[in-house]
Amino acid sequence: MEQLTFLAVHAHPDDEASSTGGLYARLASEGVRTVLVCCTNGECGDAPDGAKPDADHHDGDEVAAIRAVELDKAVEVLGISRLVRLGYRDSGMKGWPQNSDPESFWATPVSVAAEKLAAVLREERPQVVMTYNEYGFYGHPDHIQAHLITLAAIKLVDYEPTLYFNAIPNSVMARFRERWAQEERERAEADAAKGIVREPEAPNEEDEIPMGTPDEEIDAAIDISAFTDAKFDALAAHHSQIADSFWMKMGREQFKEVMKTEWFVRVTNPRHVEGCVSDIFAGYR
Ligand SMILES: [Zn+2]
Repeated sequence: MEQLTFLAVHAHPDDEASSTGGLYARLASEGVRTVLVCCTNGECGDAPDGAKPDADHHDGDEVAAIRAVELDKAVEVLGISRLVRLGYRDSGMKGWPQNSDPESFWATPVSVAAEKLAAVLREERPQVVMTYNEYGFYGHPDHIQAHLITLAAIKLVDYEPTLYFNAIPNSVMARFRERWAQEERERAEADAAKGIVREPEAPNEEDEIPMGTPDEEIDAAIDISAFTDAKFDALAAHHSQIADSFWMKMGREQFKEVMKTEWFVRVTNPRHVEGCVSDIFAGYR
């Protein structure tokens, strides 16, 4: 039988865990070869003391070195067969000075990065490829660039893989938003009890990006209920970035309940698959 290979193009160390951790672990258990292309080194992440990249003492190279080790751990936890680091510098959020660093992913011509990715596609010939939609799921320049180079790279190879974008159904997004609003209220109450008054945050641009997908447009809903521990552990491996994320706050047991599915939208469909599938390799096995 033909070797099945899955390849995901992710922007930063930790994205592989948050959007495809369950899928990676599941595919590994099925004997599928799995490849992770990580485009940036994540220099704009939090420093060990929690400092943000605009802090004077924030050292991007030090942050990247920590995140490289964390990514290796997550790759091991998820049983990923091959990790390819494209090695670009993290571009930071839109409008940050890091956007214009010539070594940043965002400042790199799409054609140049796409050629690097195409070389990996030629070696691996994955039947199924995954990246983000045109909004980069939530508007991060590196995620948008990952989207752009993936579309460009697929045009450079001599076959057509099935391409999926990760997605969250609107119905699930609504529940997440409720949870975030609740966390925000609790934070505000705790602050108020300590006499801290915070200005309400200005509405940010991310709120304008349609992060959810209409439920009926979801093309793949992958049951990862047997792999939530692996996903949780892979997220936990990225300790420097997500130690106090809402995932970690959930704890392992609640995580199991809430995170038992990963969703995707099909973009290219050379095998003419119809409807919402439960197997990302539908049409290939
Ligand atoms: Zn990211």
